[in-house]
Amino acid sequence: MRILLAPLLFVLALAAPAAHAFQPKAEKVVDNVYALVGPLGQRSADNDGLNANFGFIVTPKGVILIDSGASRLGAEKIAAAIAQITDKPVRWVINTGSQDHRWLGNDYFAGKGAEVIALARTAATQAEYATQHMDGMKRFLGERMQGTRPLPAPKTLAGDSATLELGGETLTLTYTNAHFPGDAWVWLPKRKVVFSGDLVYVDRILGVLPWSSVKNGQQAFRALVQLNPVYIVPGHGRVCDLALAQRDTGDYFDFLAGKVGAAAKEMEPLTATLDRYQEMPQFRHLYSYEDLHRANMSRAFTEYESQ
Ligand SMILES: [Zn+2]
Repeated sequence: MRILLAPLLFVLALAAPAAHAFQPKAEKVVDNVYALVGPLGQRSADNDGLNANFGFIVTPKGVILIDSGASRLGAEKIAAAIAQITDKPVRWVINTGSQDHRWLGNDYFAGKGAEVIALARTAATQAEYATQHMDGMKRFLGERMQGTRPLPAPKTLAGDSATLELGGETLTLTYTNAHFPGDAWVWLPKRKVVFSGDLVYVDRILGVLPWSSVKNGQQAFRALVQLNPVYIVPGHGRVCDLALAQRDTGDYFDFLAGKVGAAAKEMEPLTATLDRYQEMPQFRHLYSYEDLHRANMSRAFTEYESQ
């Protein structure tokens, strides 16, 4: 029996992908700007919660990282992806938001000497949701969350928008407050690149959570259009241009506000409204449409109903 089992195990080992196999790979956006594009699906022990996009900018003085991943092990994977491109250290980490995968890797990079920076409300929301997000991640990742310590950004910036000069790069952080209170984008005016954080989702339907705001999302998306970015690194989905972001996010915010929000303001019944807009062929191609579209509409309805 033992003789038969050994080759069988060998074959199985070859066939099954290694556990925790997902490793993000740097994708050049333009010049010295890179994106790390995560899978569209849910957080898992395989992806270590890196089911979102991250990015980095290589400067002569070190690397600027945009968002730090959802755990210590996730942060190590991000560091490994950066090391494929440059041996310069991560000197600065900028957080675009307070949802788990935006910042739970902060402690890892801070421990290596990086300065972690965010707008003040982003850091405040991180502190507010830290326990809830750690508990949620433990449910998805189990033991692989060990060693993760939530560190809200220690360096905070005042104002609705703030501009930084780091290693010769200019970065402007601006609140979007759409997916989470305190969410922001990072705009690189010299490169015409925006890291949208969780304002823009492409290929995958955006999520309206109980603490999200469709109204803010619609406004922020319109402001993003005004920047006229050439490259958008969305919160989720492939690196894209404005036309694709408009199709998958801008148009969906306009639909939620213009149709569902309008019905709520007219005091039309909720269920009839959800039924009327259940089938939206223009958004059907988006991953997770089936799971999220109805709940998104329901939350949009609640938001506009109370205005
Ligand atoms: Zn996200």
